[in-house]
Amino acid sequence: MDNCIFCKIINGEIPAKKIYEDDIVICFLDINPVKTGHTLIIPKKHFECLDDIDINTLSHIMEVAKKIKKLIEERLGSKGIKLVQNNGTLQDVKHYHLHIIPDCKTKDRSIDEVYELLTK
Ligand code: 5GP
Ligand code: ZN
Repeated sequence: MDNCIFCKIINGEIPAKKIYEDDIVICFLDINPVKTGHTLIIPKKHFECLDDIDINTLSHIMEVAKKIKKLIEERLGSKGIKLVQNNGTLQDVKHYHLHIIPDCKTKDRSIDEVYELLTK
């Protein structure tokens, strides 16, 4: 989709700290984390929001969320994980994305440091 920042990340037109990728999704660190380790999972196909995305893709995103939850718990020591998915007026980027927000401190580690810990 033209002018979609997340499609540009998928196409490699703009950089992102990618921590997981498969045929259906990519997963990368949020550029403005509300907590250390704040991660986004997005489908490679452009869907705007929950109304548009198909159930198989949603189901796959949840499978990946389970993996990323485990990774964040193990590598960052988070004992809690919040999943958030904004729609409509609450959604800034109009490409479906699931936020994974760990129970970590706010910005106690740099994005580069978190990236190292999650990908080493
Ligand atoms: P929304 O409000 O749409 O649910 O959240 C969009 C999220 O995308 C925000 O947390 C924001 O920091 C993140 N974001 C926006 N632009 C970029 C970008 O270019 N790169 C990365 N890594 N995250 C972004
Ligand atoms: Zn898009």
